[in-house]
Amino acid sequence: MSSRKCKYDADAFCYICGQFIKVRDVKYELKTSYVLCEAYEAYFDCPVRHQDKPWAPHVACSYCKRCLEGWYRGEKRSMKFAIPRIWREPKDHVNDCYFCIVNPRKRRSGKNAKPIEYPDLESSSAPIAHDLTRPVPEPPKKLSQKSCSSLSSNKKATRLLKLDVICTKQ
Ligand SMILES: [Zn+2]
Ligand SMILES: [Zn+2]
Repeated sequence: MSSRKCKYDADAFCYICGQFIKVRDVKYELKTSYVLCEAYEAYFDCPVRHQDKPWAPHVACSYCKRCLEGWYRGEKRSMKFAIPRIWREPKDHVNDCYFCIVNPRKRRSGKNAKPIEYPDLESSSAPIAHDLTRPVPEPPKKLSQKSCSSLSSNKKATRLLKLDVICTKQ
């Protein structure tokens, strides 16, 4: 793909749901959101990926964070989808680039506001909703061994390192 800049920065969008995060809204860096990364992996059964690439978002919206972390803690919460948005390297900026195609500016505020359209592209496949074959997963019964070990501070550093690998590995 050419190195031309995209219309929008990848980090203007949520890695998990792909929705545009308004400039004034809070976004959470995945790199430092260890619990969120753990919850993501537990819920969707795949690790957070591509955090070393410019063509995937590196942040999450507050809605996804609240939902996933709440579910992980055992609260009655679930995501709207069983499979999150999946990111791949775009082939070009015109037909296959989420960050050039999604246009949050088109939206007017107010009652008749048209929702932002989020395409399903080769480089960015849309989330897939829960259904009978894709039920909401059971939250972990208790915190995993991994999480418990983090409570002792001498192991904390190793754990953070490990998670960093999870979050950045392809
Ligand atoms: Zn682009
Ligand atoms: Zn989100």
